[in-house]
Parts: sequence; C-alpha cells; structure tokens
Amino acid sequence: MDREKIEAGFRMVLEGLGVNPDHPLFRETSAKTAESWAGELCAGLDAPEVDLEVMALEEGAQPGLVALNRIPVRSICAHHLLPFIGEATVGYVPSGQICGIAKLSRVVDHFARRPQMQENLTQQVARYLEAGLDAAGTAVTIRAEHCCMKMRGVNHSGAMTTAILLGTLKTDPALRAEFMALAQPAASSPPL
Ligand SMILES: [Zn+2]
Repeated sequence: MDREKIEAGFRMVLEGLGVNPDHPLFRETSAKTAESWAGELCAGLDAPEVDLEVMALEEGAQPGLVALNRIPVRSICAHHLLPFIGEATVGYVPSGQICGIAKLSRVVDHFARRPQMQENLTQQVARYLEAGLDAAGTAVTIRAEHCCMKMRGVNHSGAMTTAILLGTLKTDPALRAEFMALAQPAASSPPL
C-alpha cells in the first residue's frame, strides 16, 4: 500500500470540503487517517492469507458441527467507504481435518479488513474455509448495520443478514437447523 498517496488523497478531501488541512485542528488529520486506513481498516489487503494450521482428526472419529458465533465483523462498505459493523457465525462439518477455533475468527477479520460488500465477505469466508479444510459442509452468516444506511440515504437503522450454506450444511436439514439456531442473535443482545 502507498501511505503517502492515501495521505495526499485525504488532504485533497479536506481541501475539497473547504477545510484548511493546515489549520491546527486538521494538521495531523490526513496522516492519522492514512495510518488507520492502511494499518487497520484495510490491513487485510496487505496481510498474508490466514494459515489454518490444519490438523488431522483421529481415525474413525465422526465429528458433527464445529461452529463459532458472535465473531466481530468490522468492515468498510465498498460503495460509500463507510463502516459496517456486526457479528458473524461460522461453522463447518469436518471430513477429516480441523483447525483451531480462533482461526475462524481470523479468516473473518482478514476478509473484512478492506473495502467490501457484505454479500462477498460472506462468500469469501465460506469458500476459503471449505477449500482450506476440505470440509464436508461449511456455513457463514453475517448480521451487520451499515453506516451508509444509518448516516445517509434513508437514514434508517436495520441490520442486514447474509448467509451461505455449502455441502452437508445445505443438504442435511438437521445440521442446517443446528447451525441456524446457533446463528440467531440472542434475544437480549445489545444493539450493534
Ligand atoms: Zn454503502
């Protein structure tokens, strides 16, 4: 990533808004903003793919669903460059290989840390895990609130939900029901 270019761009945005980028209040804004966009908000663009450090299951093991819910999603809408924030539930049914549970969260974060569409983020996480684990079934749901909807446009709240179900998590009704129950937000969950 070219941080100098990003910083110059934010300086131009301030100028375009009619704000003096050299005013004491804004003197460090372009540099700080470039730092957070390159180093945090879009860090996934420069980061290596997540190594799942796959482990073999014991022979004869008959694993069921492995899932992690309430995974934080912090991403940037590709159309408006405003945040969307929410939670993901990720699950898979091993066919012989597993990974550490924290890896599921790492994969979500890797694909979230860039300008994104929630629909694509959901797909990318599911496809990455399906391929990396050679899983029998894979499923991802994301529920997120979009600042481009809350702060502009319709100026309304509302959480957008996206889901993808692959393999046995699509075809086996019992597994699918088990996963979808886990993916439900808790009745008492606080607003995102
Ligand atoms: Zn948007």
